Amino acid sequence: MKKLIIALDGHSGCGKSSTAKAVAAQLNYAYLDTGAMYRSVTLYFLENKINLNEEEAVKKALQNIKISFAYNAEKERHETFLNGKLVEDEIRKLYVANKVSPISAISAVRQFLVAQQQEMGTQKNIVAEGRDIGTVVFPKAELKVFMTAQVKERAIRR
Ligand code: C5P
Repeated sequence: MKKLIIALDGHSGCGKSSTAKAVAAQLNYAYLDTGAMYRSVTLYFLENKINLNEEEAVKKALQNIKISFAYNAEKERHETFLNGKLVEDEIRKLYVANKVSPISAISAVRQFLVAQQQEMGTQKNIVAEGRDIGTVVFPKAELKVFMTAQVKERAIRR
């Protein structure tokens, strides 16, 4: 079967992550959670008190960040590692979520993560999820899906 990049974007709270994980599991593809990457950078910046207004400090900090993923069969979940440390639960906490938006708006951060995401995509056979995944990260993805749901349904899910 032909190898594919599947790019999945969409509104929050409509089952994007669940769908991406299920499709990846069904096809035996890798799953790339780009939101987890932005959350991990945010955690690093918070832990190391990086001043977002200092461009050089931001760029220097990025050089020290290594994000990786592994599937935990026992817990049946994909887990995120920041510099080798398991951060899957920490990056989902509210104090991190509250700070992701301004950090993901920094262009050096986006460039840094998009380059890594593209690198992960060179292996193909991947379901990649997140904002700008089908436009900026994998504009040539073989399959691009944008998910949405009714506002009421999204509110219930959240
Ligand atoms: O998908 P998730 O809720 O984990 O994403 C967390 C945040 O990371 C988003 O609200 C957004 O601010 C940022 N993000 C982004 N670009 C992506 C994925 C996530 O800016 N591709």
